[in-house]
Amino acid sequence: PLFTIVAGARPNFMKIAPIIHAFQKRQKEGLDVSFRLVHTGQHYDKKMSGDFFEQLSIPDPDANLGGGGGTQAEQTGAIMVAFEKELMENRPNLVIVVGDVTSTLACSIAAKKLQIDVAHVEGGIRSGDLSMPEEINRMVTDSITDHFFTTSEIANNNLRKAGIPEEKIHFVGNTMIDTLMAQLPHFKKPEGDIFQKLEPKNYFVMTMHRPANVDQEQSLKAMIDAILEGTEGLPIIFPVHPRTAKNLQNLGIDAPNLHMCEPLGYLEFNYLVKNAKGVITDSGGVTEETSVMNVPCVTLRNNTERAETIHLGTNELVGTDPSKLRPYLQKIMRGEWKQYQGIPLWDGKTAERIVDILIHSYS
Ligand code: UDP
Repeated sequence: PLFTIVAGARPNFMKIAPIIHAFQKRQKEGLDVSFRLVHTGQHYDKKMSGDFFEQLSIPDPDANLGGGGGTQAEQTGAIMVAFEKELMENRPNLVIVVGDVTSTLACSIAAKKLQIDVAHVEGGIRSGDLSMPEEINRMVTDSITDHFFTTSEIANNNLRKAGIPEEKIHFVGNTMIDTLMAQLPHFKKPEGDIFQKLEPKNYFVMTMHRPANVDQEQSLKAMIDAILEGTEGLPIIFPVHPRTAKNLQNLGIDAPNLHMCEPLGYLEFNYLVKNAKGVITDSGGVTEETSVMNVPCVTLRNNTERAETIHLGTNELVGTDPSKLRPYLQKIMRGEWKQYQGIPLWDGKTAERIVDILIHSYS
């Protein structure tokens, strides 16, 4: 069988890497299975894309759709048009999409309209917040998915509630954690003076890129001020997402302990996270990684589609109101934080399970 694997944006690359490696392993064992890797081009600069291919040993894509830039609809449309052509030229048995980005939505629609099966890795998670483009991507993708590969029992229940038959739901765990566990021995300190001076467990890492936090300059400033106050002068490393960079420039924030830098490579970013006192973020994936690495994490969002990171992990939901942040940061400063309890099936073997199920279904 031929499987087409889609990736488009930064958080996709860590999710596809172990799936590709599991397919490559089966090929080496002599199994008759092929895959095509399609990069939609949603993220195209080196720091958001190319570096991850190199660090995570992802092979060069077989096709690049060049679908980056533009509005949500322009991007969705461009990717759909290009992906439909790709599918007509190289018709697979199944398209595998991951996560919740524009590419996930666009490619699942294009595939399903050509009556090609769709597998959604990380299916079933829901924030309930339709103001996030990701939630719309999840809902639409899951409405036409044939195989749901889920990360949690909560996701399974969301799908059951939506009337999805049990045989389509495969509770397999989290491929992002496969990558984390595989790469842990290779984490490395980033180059540069500021990173050399950091003391383990004596600095914070922050990331912010959700529209709700970064699109309004004044609320972005208020949040950064609250973070600076609550972290009491400890160094804060802030790799800035391209979306956030524009607004930050206009704010002219100048605090000696706030170190802004370009987005970091995966191995460097997670080196810093693993050794941090705490992490402040609005990312979804980062809350999963901090949980497994047992690093305190506060999420600057009002909701999450990854509630297991709160119940069993190290994540706390603070919301987007800067005045709520202080008590959480104080708890981190005092070293009073919950410990990672273990999340079922986040064991580094998820991609193996996925590939076994797919090969079994399509051979
Ligand atoms: N990440 C990275 N470098 C950075 C910031 C994040 O490698 O400078 C990684 C992080 O470890 C995680 C992924 O990017 O694996 C999360 O992506 P992002 O926050 O863009 O997306 P989300 O998870 O919010 O969809």
